[in-house]
Order: sequence, then C-alpha cells, then structure tokens
Amino acid sequence: MKTRAALFHSPDRPLEVVELDLEEPGPGEVLVRLAAVGVCGSDLHVVRGEWTRPTPMVLGHEGAGTVEAVGDGVTSLAPGDAVVISWAPACGECVACRSGRRQACVPLRAAISAGTLPDGTTKLSYRGETVYRMTSTGCLSELTVLPAESALPLGDGIPLEQAALLGCAALTGVGAARNAADVRPGETVLVVGAGGVGQFVVQGARMAGASEIVCVDPNAARLEQALALGATAIGSPEEVASLLPDGADAAVDAVGAPETAALSLAGTRAGGRCVVVGMPAAGARYEFDPLEFTNREKTLRGSVYGSADPADALPGLLEDVRAGRLQLAALVGPSYPLEEADEAFRASLAGAAGRVLVTP
Ligand SMILES: [Zn+2]
Ligand SMILES: [Zn+2]
Repeated sequence: MKTRAALFHSPDRPLEVVELDLEEPGPGEVLVRLAAVGVCGSDLHVVRGEWTRPTPMVLGHEGAGTVEAVGDGVTSLAPGDAVVISWAPACGECVACRSGRRQACVPLRAAISAGTLPDGTTKLSYRGETVYRMTSTGCLSELTVLPAESALPLGDGIPLEQAALLGCAALTGVGAARNAADVRPGETVLVVGAGGVGQFVVQGARMAGASEIVCVDPNAARLEQALALGATAIGSPEEVASLLPDGADAAVDAVGAPETAALSLAGTRAGGRCVVVGMPAAGARYEFDPLEFTNREKTLRGSVYGSADPADALPGLLEDVRAGRLQLAALVGPSYPLEEADEAFRASLAGAAGRVLVTP
C-alpha cells in the first residue's frame, strides 16, 4: 500500500514529504493511521546532525492514532481502537528484559541504531530503496505498520493530539520523577530544562508529593508553563544556587547536555539523587568532581523512557490524566499538517513553548 510521509535525508536538507510504499501488516502486526506526532528532542538531535542515523529516514516516535487493520494472531487490538505509540516493544528474553529493564531491551537498542523495527525490517521503501525508521517507529507518516506491542490501547476520552505526548515526553518525564528520582512526599526537587520532558518531570514531582519544585530554563515562556503545572519557583539556570542554597533532595536534568548535567549535580544536596534523562549529542562527555560522590555522597543515575516498561506505565498515566492530576492540553503547542513537517521542526528548534505537533 501507499502512504505519504516526511523523509529526512540529511541535516542540510529540509524534510521532504513523499509517497512511500508500505508493506501490509503481517502476523502480530498492526496498521495504524497516525493522528498526531510530537516533535521530540531525539528527532531534533538527528536533524541538527548531532546523531547519525541511516537515511532516508521517517522521523517521529511520539505518536497517537487509530488502528486500521490487524495482522494474524493479534487479539489485543481491533480496527478503530485509539492507540499511543510505544517505541519500546520489548523482546522479553534478553539480559535487560530478564532483569526487569524492558525499556532498555538489547535487540530493541540495536534496531534503533540500525533504523529498523525490532525484527530488522522497515516495511517502508521509496522508489525501491529502503526507508529507515526513527526509534524503531517512524511516526511522521499517514499510515504505519508496527508490531502490536508498539500500539498501546488509549481507551476513550483523551483527544489524540494530547495523547501523542504520552508516547515519549510524558512516560519519560513522569517516570524519571517517580521511578528514577524516586521523589518522596515533602521533598525538594530541581528540574533543569522546561521543554517537553521537563514539564512532565515537574508534574511527576508534583504527583509524587514534592513540597518544593524549582524549575530552571533560559526560556521565560516555558518557565511560566512550568509554574502553571506545579513548579513552586522558577528561574534562569544561573539562579540555581540562590533558589536552592542547600541543594535539592532530587535533581533531574531534562536536557542532558554536559553543562546541564553539571548544573543538576551541583544543585543536588549532599546525599541526594541526581538523574539525567535528557539525551546529549553523540560524543558528548560529562566532567564531574569525584568529591561529589565520595565526600558528598551524591548519587548520579540515568533514566530511559521513564525507567519502566511503557506497557506497564501507560495505564497509570491514563488514570492520572482522567483524574485531572496530569495535564496534557496545556502542553500542546503549535500544530502543523504533514506537508509542513519541516516548518514544525523549525518551530521546535526555535524553542516554541509547548510540544510542536505534526498531524498526518
Ligand atoms: Zn522522544
Ligand atoms: Zn529484550
């Protein structure tokens, strides 16, 4: 079958919207019509040339849509079901899966680097040439075929434009606060970066009962948003020391750059926890004073996809949304049709407040 999709060729060329060939869903697979796709920081690393990926590639891994058809043996989903796209369908058998880290599944990681689905195929081509997929998904397309495990049931009552944000930013940010930083009631939390993920770290910290949530970012509009979503104090990155003279019980770096990781660790109190959840450019290196870990007994850890299997974590987030604890609507930013996918990326690169969406 055919589908229109936004193709990434190289950092110096705009995204090109073309008609691709897409294979029919096979056993265990589903055909999904994408309704909304959020532009995530990982996609931006690729278009900036900071991560090298096989090309041509369909970017986008934060999506929501509707099941159009299911392959043989798929019983968990039916045509018409609203779904959130998960970019971590786990194999269940590798060393990461067996140790309870299904979000870090080893064959999945290899597929993400290779630009394929977990089974090594892409099911997409352009004029006979293989087209690759960002983060084992490739959502910037009207239609896509994915393993059924990549399509998580959304249920009713949450608009697809909002649900898209659940697929990466919300699972990643809320999970970083709840699971990786393990925020406890009454704690003080520092959130560095008020982009898509940072806004959900703020909300995760609020839902975990943090009494103080300090959010820093150079972008004033993003900080205002964080204040509305639960931050109790905001400021520029230079103000961390004055806002938190004793340091935070838990600090989360939602950017991942060497400077923000250093700022987050410095803003962590002695004995506190620091979590890096943002992704740095390829080749970036962190530099830390070892006394942070010996004398000051700080803990530094990373977190991917909320440090939980998205299939396990999503139902809880959906409950949070339906109960009004987790805000999605306030974070939906400007929206662009597929034909204007390149404009959407430029808006996101320019620092638009709210998640920039493409609506295939
Ligand atoms: Zn993402
Ligand atoms: Zn695995």
